[in-house]
Amino acid sequence: MTRIGCHGFVFSGRFDERGIANAIEGVQRAGFDFIEMPLMDPFSFDERAAARILADHDIEMTGSLGLSAATDLSSENAAVVRRGEELLTRAIDVVAAVGGTDLCGVIYSALQKYFAPATAQGRRNSAEALSRLGDYARSAGVQLSLEIVNRYETNVCNTAREGLAFLDEVGNDNVHLHLDTYHMNIEESGMFEPVLDGGDRLRYVHIGESHRGYLGSGSVDFDSLFRALHRIGYDGPIVFESFSSAVVDEQLTRSLGIWRNLWTDSDDLAAHANRFIRDGIRAVETIELH
Ligand code: MN
Repeated sequence: MTRIGCHGFVFSGRFDERGIANAIEGVQRAGFDFIEMPLMDPFSFDERAAARILADHDIEMTGSLGLSAATDLSSENAAVVRRGEELLTRAIDVVAAVGGTDLCGVIYSALQKYFAPATAQGRRNSAEALSRLGDYARSAGVQLSLEIVNRYETNVCNTAREGLAFLDEVGNDNVHLHLDTYHMNIEESGMFEPVLDGGDRLRYVHIGESHRGYLGSGSVDFDSLFRALHRIGYDGPIVFESFSSAVVDEQLTRSLGIWRNLWTDSDDLAAHANRFIRDGIRAVETIELH
């Protein structure tokens, strides 16, 4: 059964105990099954408080992050790669500590604009580190998924097919594909082919509008996405992701270029997204009857 979740940044820009509680309460109010917790700084994350608040609200948690230049697994600098591996090891521990099963995001390179292609050595460093991390995650009961993002946010892979080729280089079946409609809308031929190409290697899906605002108010072809997910029998997590300068983390605001306000009411935005996603999935389920 597909679980529907919501990214923590819809409700909070800070993730101290108060921020964690605000985010989890908001996600529950909107009707979601779980929260995707941003773990940009997993060393400062209070997993005990999070586990308690999650249990109190009967909400599950996944984790996600984008690496920085200082922790870039695709760097040619061994010390930088090692710091990235340490950060991701800690993020896996956080997810496992709250009973979560998934860590995803841009965990194979820095989440930033690059001004040159990834180097062969950099790709190899990232693939080898992810293979080790995939084993570590498996022993913790966590699956890793690599989020494919657009050309302005990574230089390692920008399409599902490039992501699958990179996963072949990683060569660890506990490391999967993560697609995001916001990025697909920029780089892919459409919503259908990437999902079909991903098949059973597709483990995680982000739902975002073309401008990262209200679902249905932009140009993403959600009808095709839901049909494609149904066609491959997708039953993994689906997460609503939206960013506004109304609720921000300064670091992410800069790396993602969130310069304007597309919404101000987190509760209204999230409740709408929860209905939109569940309605989309329900509609394509009935195709079985045709
Ligand atoms: Mn995303």
